[in-house]
Amino acid sequence: MDFTITTQDYIVYLHTVLDVLNHNRDYISRLDAATGDGDHWANLHSGFQKLKVQSQEWSTLSLGDLFQKCALVLMSEVGGSSGVLYGSAYLEASKVVKEMNALHLKELCLVLDAMCRAVMERGQTKPGFKTMVDAIYPAVETYKKGLAEHVQANKLLPLISHSALEGAENTKNMSAVKGRASYRTDKGVGHIDPGAVTMAYQICTLMECASAHLSEG
Ligand code: ADP
Ligand code: MG
Repeated sequence: MDFTITTQDYIVYLHTVLDVLNHNRDYISRLDAATGDGDHWANLHSGFQKLKVQSQEWSTLSLGDLFQKCALVLMSEVGGSSGVLYGSAYLEASKVVKEMNALHLKELCLVLDAMCRAVMERGQTKPGFKTMVDAIYPAVETYKKGLAEHVQANKLLPLISHSALEGAENTKNMSAVKGRASYRTDKGVGHIDPGAVTMAYQICTLMECASAHLSEG
């Protein structure tokens, strides 16, 4: 059992992320207001809104070119640190998908791994620093472990989503080392990191997209 995600499917995924962000506007804004400057929802929303408009012209691109376009839009449109970090993530992902026509189970793991590495490098961040890394890192670990243990795709995809969401929840007790929460005397302890939550939402949406494109064989 495997899935196939094409450029067109990925564009639909990007549109779905915008819907998910819209649905969770108040929650995400509240989280960033508590430990940051309150703009995280607006930053990401503006990036994904721009992606939705621009992507109408991207359906014939290779995945590598699509990810490069995403990187440029997110870097220029999303204010704040998250714009630069997502830009770096998509740029690194564009390198690993260069020769791929579509994303399957193994390929998508390489993409998420590249994104995670790029964010850690650009942000000088490690797991446990109370950032978006705390959602994507455990998700990638679960993904790699599942592949090594030959877990069936239909079982593995929900496990990856679960790890991302759990990772975001776990930021609540973390003391921030990076990001605006680290400027606070309480280091944000007791508050969930907004960037970890939006990262988890994107991972869950991507896993649902993959699940919707599963086929036997
Ligand atoms: P800003 O903090 O500049 O206002 P945003 O509000 O858009 O930017 O994004 C904040 C989120 O970005 C944080 O919740 C955190 O998850 C993530 N973040 C901030 N700095 C870093 C970093 N150095 N490494 C990884 N993620 C980071
Ligand atoms: Mg902010």
